[in-house]
Amino acid sequence: MKQRLLTPGPTPVPEETLLELARPMIFHRTAEFRAMLAEVLADLQKIFCTKNIILPLTSSGTGALEAALANSVPAGGKVICLIAGKFGERWKNIAAAFGLESVNLTVPYGEAVQPAQLEKALADHPDAVAVCSTLSETSTGIGHDIEAFGKIVAKTPTLLIVDAVSGLGAMECRTDDWQIDLCCTGSQKALMMPPGLAFVSVSDRAWQAIDRNPQARTFYFDLKRARKSLEANDTPYTPAHTMIRAMRVSLKKILAEGIENVWARQQRYAAAARAGFQALGLDIFPARPNSALSVARMPANIDSTAVLTRLEKQYGLKLANGQDSLKGKIIRLAHMGYVDQFDILAAIAGVELVLIQMGHPVEPGAGVAAVQRVFAQA
Ligand code: PLP
Repeated sequence: MKQRLLTPGPTPVPEETLLELARPMIFHRTAEFRAMLAEVLADLQKIFCTKNIILPLTSSGTGALEAALANSVPAGGKVICLIAGKFGERWKNIAAAFGLESVNLTVPYGEAVQPAQLEKALADHPDAVAVCSTLSETSTGIGHDIEAFGKIVAKTPTLLIVDAVSGLGAMECRTDDWQIDLCCTGSQKALMMPPGLAFVSVSDRAWQAIDRNPQARTFYFDLKRARKSLEANDTPYTPAHTMIRAMRVSLKKILAEGIENVWARQQRYAAAARAGFQALGLDIFPARPNSALSVARMPANIDSTAVLTRLEKQYGLKLANGQDSLKGKIIRLAHMGYVDQFDILAAIAGVELVLIQMGHPVEPGAGVAAVQRVFAQA
């Protein structure tokens, strides 16, 4: 059976990138690899919309989050964590692991933190060293207004750190214009790569904080050491260099389309997926949906785990469940990265068939027609 991977990471990887991964091993301390790394980081700057240095890390996305906090916030420092789901909670957990004081601004799952809430938190805690936020909260499908957060935070000495692990490359993210100090991402989402690479861009303001910090409190993720190596287009330790080599291919594919065109296409996919879900009688879960993934709430009498099991077993469609308290209640259809409109049609067609089998009142073709109507307008 043909398999379709529509989970919010890992995501499908283009064939030409996979072939690149199959090429023979090379040595990494060479001019050839340095040129490759420089090219990948220059291409990433276009995707991050930044002129800042981007540091490559050999880890999953969480490594970039950890590096951002451990390097920029001194021991005992205060951070404001904006928490709208599992990944906002991760900020709180990383802060705890490093002995930081975290002020947690938490909203219910499905809602977004409002700029006014951040403004108040900053006024209440002017000594906060950093605000930790999430562009696309993958666990609920909400998107935060990082542009508005940036305007608020830039008026203060506090740093704006953004987890853009599932958002970057799937939705608008203008690192420099939005005044993001540390922007973190991972390879396995919209960047069309397997897991294993993480990246963090660092603004001048963030470097000042990092340089002031007497101790990075991390060895492997010491960003000052990474910056020093990068002066020679190198990394302090053995990089996942075959991944860097393959990433060159995926990034060229993104840049051939143009990052703004990718954002616009993602918006169309999101509009189509949501129209499909709604035509099946499903509510859209997030109050402020982002365009990396679409999340639908199941009717009270239908367990999403059962829907997802049938989708996978019967149709080879792999979508994602909710996590923790959302397990069984929502389904997450990711359309970031190497996904096209026919994948979305297939996903909605599959959900439609499964819901009909489970006795949910749906007119055959209703979901598919709603998706097609959106694509027909494009
Ligand atoms: N942040 C967000 C928004 C994510 O979606 C993920 C991955 O699912 C992470 C952080 C963690 O990334 P990783 O699992 O690559 O460490």
